[in-house]
Amino acid sequence: MSHIVIVGGGQAAGAAAETAREQDSDAEITVVAREPHGLYQRPPLSKGYLAGSDGPGAVRLHDADWYADQGIAVRTGLAATEVDAGARRVGLADGTAITYTQLLLATGATARALPVPGSGLEGVHTLRTIDDADALGQTLRAGGKRVVVIGSGWIGMEAAATARQLGNDVTVLGRAAQPLEAALGARMGQVFARLHADHGVTVRGGVAVERVEGSSSVTGVVAGGERVDADVVIAGVGAELDLGLARTAGARIGDGVLVDAAMRTSVPDVWAAGDIAAAYHPMLQRHLRSEHWATALAGGGVAGAGMAGAPGRLADIPFFFSDQFDLGMELSGFAPLMDGARLVVRGDEHAREFIAFWVDGDRVVGGMNINVWDVQDDIQSLIRSGVRVDVAALADPDVALSDLTQG
Ligand SMILES: Cc1cc2nc3c(=O)[nH]c(=O)nc-3n(C[C@H](O)[C@H](O)[C@H](O)COP(=O)(O)OP(=O)(O)OC[C@H]3O[C@@H](n4cnc5c(N)ncnc54)[C@H](O)[C@@H]3O)c2cc1C
Repeated sequence: MSHIVIVGGGQAAGAAAETAREQDSDAEITVVAREPHGLYQRPPLSKGYLAGSDGPGAVRLHDADWYADQGIAVRTGLAATEVDAGARRVGLADGTAITYTQLLLATGATARALPVPGSGLEGVHTLRTIDDADALGQTLRAGGKRVVVIGSGWIGMEAAATARQLGNDVTVLGRAAQPLEAALGARMGQVFARLHADHGVTVRGGVAVERVEGSSSVTGVVAGGERVDADVVIAGVGAELDLGLARTAGARIGDGVLVDAAMRTSVPDVWAAGDIAAAYHPMLQRHLRSEHWATALAGGGVAGAGMAGAPGRLADIPFFFSDQFDLGMELSGFAPLMDGARLVVRGDEHAREFIAFWVDGDRVVGGMNINVWDVQDDIQSLIRSGVRVDVAALADPDVALSDLTQG
């Protein structure tokens, strides 16, 4: 009988287990997850779950009974330590091993520690896991703290918004001039800088953090020669991919584990999905990796089906969403093409109700809607169709987006 083994406890692992079961009602399926929790998704950890407005049900993919009913064995609190691809065996941290016929690596990433002195002081937090969110949430929900967020990427800015909404005094220190600049460019970064400023967050860009100060607990952060008082520090300085297992399997690695569009690695019967996987994208004709929830969901699904004998293709346009204060956004696009593309705005940028398009030559390669809804299908159609667009029409709210797709 086939034995599908899935290593990981996040969205990619969960999606793979679910689709594998849909495709094959007989296969033995085992999920090996290092964290003590069942399979869960991370987006609420910097939003509702951190704020305390969403409970564990918003984070968990399914409850334990669901996996039992599906005949999916979930072994939590157990790390996989190595893969012997020749013997089709996965070594486990308890000294045992399991054999597989198909193996998925969905090991994701670990929050990067702050690379400055003082990062180990009490009160310095990272935000990647349920345990991280529980510890941080407990402090933030008391309110009245001086919170310094280091890093102005997505996690830093979402955590800053949540911390502020919980009644804390919040300062963001970012290395780039504008928040989210690496993802969105300086002009769109300014939209988020203004949003935070309007809600009382101090955002300082272009600063390098030198050290965190305190004796046992944090008391301040020194950046650009200036000290900012702090009771709590949130380090949102990126994540390190967990590639160790893929290396022991002998999988080819570039920017992540290189997989084909069906999510197969270079090693027979070993697959990869989620944050660690750089999948060959049929439209771009190159490998593409994105640390997005939707990519983990879709890629995990493709891998799960493939392991159960129904290989598919991951041809999605990367999609991301964020919620900060009263701003909701959705973004679809190919990051490598958006970098350096021209920005075209439809709607009221100042009122934070608009769509921004990234246009490369005269083709749309990315689109972000802010507080405008039900336009993602049209944005994705525009990108996928590759039609030449008239920039004036793109910027004109009176021209239906669906008309532009006709070229
Ligand atoms: C706070 C936060 C907020 C986010 N918000 C958004 C958002 O709003 N929108 C969005 O699109 N994306 C968001 N993301 C990104 C998104 O959550 C990730 O892209 C997604 O979690 C990737 O899923 P994954 O399954 O690949 O990896 P992960 O979710 O990292 O899961 C991997 C799991 O594998 C386990 N593991 C690792 N090594 C081993 C091993 N050797 N043995 C056993 N288990 C192992 C890990 O413990 C972990 O639980 C957010 C991420 C974070 C941290």
